[in-house]
Amino acid sequence: MEELKSEIDKRLTFAIISHPDAGKTTITEKLLLFGKAIHAAGAVKSHRNERKTTSDFMEMEKQRGISVSTSVMGFDWKGRKVNLLDTPGHADFSEDTYRTLTAVDSTLMVIDSVKGVEERTRKLCEICRMRRTPIVTYINKLDRDGKDPIELMDEVETELNVKITPMSWPVGQGKAFKGVYSLYEKRLILFNPHGTQEDDDVVEIDDLYSELLDRHAGSEAAKLREEIELINEVYPAFDREQYLSGHITPVFFGSAINNFGVRELLDCLVDIAPPPKVHETEERTVKAEEDKFSGFVFKIHANLDPKHRDRIAFLRICSGRFEKNKQYLHVRSGKPFKTSNPTAFMAQDRNVIDYAYPGDIIGLHDTGTFKIGDTLTEGEKIKFKGIPSFAPQIFRTVINLDPMKSKQFNKGLEQLAEEGVVQLFTKKYTKERLLGVVGMLQLDVIKYRLEHEYKASCRFDNSSFTTACWIKCKDKKVIDKFISQHSSKIAEDVRGELVFLASNKWMLERTLEEFPEVRYYFTSDFD
Ligand code: GDP
Repeated sequence: MEELKSEIDKRLTFAIISHPDAGKTTITEKLLLFGKAIHAAGAVKSHRNERKTTSDFMEMEKQRGISVSTSVMGFDWKGRKVNLLDTPGHADFSEDTYRTLTAVDSTLMVIDSVKGVEERTRKLCEICRMRRTPIVTYINKLDRDGKDPIELMDEVETELNVKITPMSWPVGQGKAFKGVYSLYEKRLILFNPHGTQEDDDVVEIDDLYSELLDRHAGSEAAKLREEIELINEVYPAFDREQYLSGHITPVFFGSAINNFGVRELLDCLVDIAPPPKVHETEERTVKAEEDKFSGFVFKIHANLDPKHRDRIAFLRICSGRFEKNKQYLHVRSGKPFKTSNPTAFMAQDRNVIDYAYPGDIIGLHDTGTFKIGDTLTEGEKIKFKGIPSFAPQIFRTVINLDPMKSKQFNKGLEQLAEEGVVQLFTKKYTKERLLGVVGMLQLDVIKYRLEHEYKASCRFDNSSFTTACWIKCKDKKVIDKFISQHSSKIAEDVRGELVFLASNKWMLERTLEEFPEVRYYFTSDFD
């Protein structure tokens, strides 16, 4: 038990959230260099190219081993075992990002000081708030003439609806950027463009009125004093409990490309970021230190090698110790599950492991057993709660172009939907297949993967549906009546749940009004 407790306390499992271009890839790389998980700059591939064509995207994914090796990056820092989970940069894959956020205990939010709070940051921050995930904020690109720091603080507070505590404060900005004053460690860290890992130029300054500050910050010293006085009046001192409950976000400033402010950030993260604690299931709250193992699948990744249709299921361990070759229960099917080659992820390679602990992510070789959201336990029948699917707004009818390949076509669609690439709806009577997506890139990926992995070809036809909701009713007679009156608009999702499709919001609302007994949901969370 002692061993389990100490392993849990060491774990720090987090993801970086940001709007594309804010600097997520750059920071990831710097963090991994610190952790010695990679050895050269350029090893972490940016997701920015995802905006090109799909085949570029697929080719790129293939080249880097379909991002499996960079999906989870593990490294050690100051006694903690850090697991950094990668999230896709492109908005079309945002559901993938939401699911990854179910598997982390905290997040790092990166904001571009020139652009301020952007649209993706807003949405991702909202998801974190929903789950009360603690957030540390890093304001990047201080080497550029960005927004005024006080203005940025206001923007974060009002737009993201979270209180802040500055942990550092910039001295100048853009060309006049001199460094940051660390309020957390009470010292001045001088900016050195293109800094390396080892050469932080640090001046310990306990007293802001010491002439040391004038000597190093020059004309910026007076402004810094004034601003820090203001900060001390306006913002609360750092309170770890408030951070852990998601009420405040500590804020750092820096310039990731210049490797500036990243070490302070990492040092602080290992100090304050939470170890794994609890996870909610539909039945009860599971604590990390329970001696029985439990975990859930939050991501499934296909091998793009067309010869093998096997997949990797990413399992987040929530409690107890996972052991290789031990028999577990796959709760959804009720069947036993055992694996002889679970993999742990390091930045550049995958290793077979014997044990894993809460907070760890392991890869399970999968030949079709798992769906996203599946729970594994030592026998208890529980189901971990995830982030629900959101009713999509773009629908396409998907047509099989080769009747000889209908088996491959159906299997491909179902498996890709299980992986979460798209939402798949099957019309109840005609069995027509509809895809629901957030963005067009998802459709391109489906087409490409159906062709390359399943040898099936398809076409997408426009659909008149633009909105949908899940429907439920205790009274079977009522639901049967609903279905028979609107049979052409009823479909089932991959889990067999009933979905009502409509051509516009007004139609949807009008129909629902006719059936006040029917409950409807715009997310797949039916609680
Ligand atoms: P991502 O899309 O969030 O992963 O962003 P990247 O890490 O790929 O960075 C986007 C662009 O911003 C790249 O051209 C980086 O070189 C640049 N960048 C990152 N950090 C900084 C910084 O501190 N200062 C400046 N001036 N540019 C930066």
